Amino acid sequence: MSALFRSAMPAPAATAAPGAGGSPAARGQDEPLLFANQVEKTYANGTVALERVKLSIRPGEFVSLLGPSGCGKSTLLKLFAGLEAPSAGHLRWWGGPALPAAIGTPGRTLAMVFQEATLMPWARVADNARLPLDLARMPRAEADERVRRALALVGLGRFAAAYPRELSGGMQMRVSIARALATNPDLLLMDEPFGALDEFTRNKLDADLRALWAERGLTVVFVTHSIYEAVYLSSRVVVMAARPGRVIGDVAIAGPDVRDEAFRVSPAFMQYCAQLSALLTQANTGFDPDAH
Ligand code: ADP
Repeated sequence: MSALFRSAMPAPAATAAPGAGGSPAARGQDEPLLFANQVEKTYANGTVALERVKLSIRPGEFVSLLGPSGCGKSTLLKLFAGLEAPSAGHLRWWGGPALPAAIGTPGRTLAMVFQEATLMPWARVADNARLPLDLARMPRAEADERVRRALALVGLGRFAAAYPRELSGGMQMRVSIARALATNPDLLLMDEPFGALDEFTRNKLDADLRALWAERGLTVVFVTHSIYEAVYLSSRVVVMAARPGRVIGDVAIAGPDVRDEAFRVSPAFMQYCAQLSALLTQANTGFDPDAH
């Protein structure tokens, strides 16, 4: 497949109230879209998944949460999505204490993509992608049009009538992304969406996602345990360590806007990978799993 994730889908501002959406610059780069202040999460079994996390996500950023398994990346993303509540500290979305509930809240729509594509096997691709719009009771004609555009955007325009079983793993993940894009998200949360895919497919989807982010002015928070994927995709990498889960570094990636194969083998890319690797190694040095 080629030219995936590209189409003439209008920018979110086209459907948002004047002044509410638009480019990151128009919304004000300095006001955090998402803010976590001294956030902690202790599960009922006593596991301290997150300790004193302080983090701001500004409009238009592509932020990766990078760290080994068990360092609380998914927990933090679930807090960002409002799927879990913090045990201490607080979160703010778009400057307020509560997550806007409805899809289509102008300029304040959040969508999440999970590790699995989580498609309904009995439903066609278009029906799968339309699910959140149906749940939001969006008029059918408008929903169909949004789904048509979202599927074109992920390169699946010709597969609207297919069933999930007819698609490869990478294509199923594209449907999952289209389902999120159909909501016109201002904030896209992604939990290791390409972790189960082969490296070639993963690199392709990373490239397409990066192009989509640039083209649509999205704000993305992306969970990964791959240093390479984090550096390739991100404008900023938040490095985390485990036991307890915490933030140990925050590295801006000043790579080129267009991230192509040349960037993957550039000295700057290697340098960022080495820097992040050193941070992760440092955080785990002296860690004795038997002592915890
Ligand atoms: P990551 O995404 O970095 O792998 P998670 O956020 O999934 O980390 O998990 C962080 C820690 O919290 C781990 O020790 C994990 O076992 C624990 N954990 C996650 N979810 C739950 C839960 N629902 N109940 C108890 N412990 C949990």
